[in-house]
Amino acid sequence: MNTIAERYVKLVLAVGQHDADYVDAFYGPAEWKTDAERRKLPLPDVAAAAERLIADIPGLSDAERRDELLVLRREYLQRQLEALRTRVRMLEGATLAFDEESQAIYDATAPVHPESYFSEALAEIDRLLPGEGPLVDRYDAFRQRFIIPAGRLTRVFDRAIAECRTRTLSHVALPPTETFTVEYVKNKPWSGYNWYQGSFRSLIQVNTDLPIYIDRAVDLACHEGYPGHHVYNALLEKHLVRDRGWVEFTIYPLFSPQSLIAEGTANYGIEVAFPGDERAAFERDVLYAEAGLDPTQAAAYARVQALVDRLAYAGNEAARRYLNGAFDRKQATAWLAQYAMMSPARADQRTRFFDTYRSYVINYNLGKDLVKQYVESRGGTAAQPAIRWEEFVRLLASPRLPSGLRAPAGPRR
Ligand SMILES: [Zn+2]
Repeated sequence: MNTIAERYVKLVLAVGQHDADYVDAFYGPAEWKTDAERRKLPLPDVAAAAERLIADIPGLSDAERRDELLVLRREYLQRQLEALRTRVRMLEGATLAFDEESQAIYDATAPVHPESYFSEALAEIDRLLPGEGPLVDRYDAFRQRFIIPAGRLTRVFDRAIAECRTRTLSHVALPPTETFTVEYVKNKPWSGYNWYQGSFRSLIQVNTDLPIYIDRAVDLACHEGYPGHHVYNALLEKHLVRDRGWVEFTIYPLFSPQSLIAEGTANYGIEVAFPGDERAAFERDVLYAEAGLDPTQAAAYARVQALVDRLAYAGNEAARRYLNGAFDRKQATAWLAQYAMMSPARADQRTRFFDTYRSYVINYNLGKDLVKQYVESRGGTAAQPAIRWEEFVRLLASPRLPSGLRAPAGPRR
């Protein structure tokens, strides 16, 4: 399997020669990368090599089948390669329907929600923000009070990251050398990004194109950092790359099932780190002061944001219709304003995200729901925080596929 894994890494690097967004992280042997750059294998050859590699994956012996991680490793390599094959087809010009694409690449399909699915949350937001004009404008005006002033961004984020890190370290053993750098950037289709560098180091970038609201601090700190992407990558490196020598985890192909696990755990990690009302309390008692905002408004803002969170799947609907050709950009932007409460500028940024990342959007909300359901079905409910951390960390440190999250709960070990 180690030979298969090495061929897989080299193939991912070969795809990366045709798709600048494909290789999200790579910290394996540097000469494999320079070799891929030098050879620049044409796409039809990459596709043929992927077919051969999938056919060459050996079966497992009875003894191997008793080690769950070995079973997961084999399934993971096969499914990642199938996703690679689809991405290559797309690079060769194939256009897949939204659901077909997400199934082939992320091993999952997002549920379809009609307009009415969002109406209850929208009606409640409407009640909380009475007045004239479109609801999204009233929401935007309301939110002005919760923008972190540019001059205070660093201290607010530093404080949020420190808190997320402390909370995570009290439940997760991380290599003592783990560390990260934060950069503030502009002109990107995303709002935050974690670039994992290997050796337990991350570069976290925060996009400051649009106003950053106070709730984004905990979101980003957890999602990009602790216990999100940084911790996920560090645990894979520690447990799978270093302890087991599994080289396939030195590379992260963005358009693959791994992304649903990465985004889903990063989003679910927020409530793992801040169970119940703890997040609201931390924001009100600490972050509002760091940002120079009025903490007496915190409860009202949290109430509205909780309702806006219930609109998360509206973004999937916009993306599905836009990418399937049922919406043009203007219609997608209008839908996002009406059903996802996005200002025109934010909605426009989002459609540019759809252009680049396509059905990747499902990884955030469907990913979170699948991870939550998986962890909680194994006893990791809010009432059992120790079990929740344990199951969450086990998931982070293993190569489980999205379809494996739907499997009936096995015995907890
Ligand atoms: Zn992410």
